[in-house]
Amino acid sequence: MHELRQALALAVRELYRAGLITPVGGNVSCRAGRGYLITPSGRHKGRLAAKDMVWLDAGGRPVGLGKPSVEAGLHLAIYAKQPEAGAVVHSHGPLSILLGVTGTVISPVSLESVAFVDLPRVPFCLPGSEELAHAAGDALLHSPAALLVNHGAITVGSCLEKAVTLSHALEAAARLSLCLHLLKLPATRLEPDALWLLDSYGIR
Ligand SMILES: [Zn+2]
Repeated sequence: MHELRQALALAVRELYRAGLITPVGGNVSCRAGRGYLITPSGRHKGRLAAKDMVWLDAGGRPVGLGKPSVEAGLHLAIYAKQPEAGAVVHSHGPLSILLGVTGTVISPVSLESVAFVDLPRVPFCLPGSEELAHAAGDALLHSPAALLVNHGAITVGSCLEKAVTLSHALEAAARLSLCLHLLKLPATRLEPDALWLLDSYGIR
């Protein structure tokens, strides 16, 4: 359990340094045995240590110290709908947010981008609400990522590393697509069958 706590703390600090999680915005979780580990609520996300992670039992109830993230219900809804999901990242990356609010479509111009061409958008729902948990859980059934309009993004992976890698890849794809949109220039697009290449990149 301690190793998982350390891995989760490391992932959060990495996402924070990359600007994908802000001091108060964003949360990360992973399966831990029959339960889950999740980031705490109300703490500076760039200063979290392994001991700060909150353990939830199989029913999603907190065990021991710490108050779980306000978005714990969102994470639990995804795990309930996807038994194979091992980790969930909810980010507040600025470029993913811009992508969501402008309706800009991801252009398949890079390997990262190809994974997100059919990216679902979840209309704004109050953070921490059941409505958001259900809508996001449904949106992620057929996509490894989803945009939360006016809020952020979510990525789901079979393990913590994959969910984090997807989060970085989504922000990179958003950056490219927004730049391309601003440039208003024609661009060579990758063919959809380039998707198989993503396996070697660990982003599918
Ligand atoms: Zn959020």
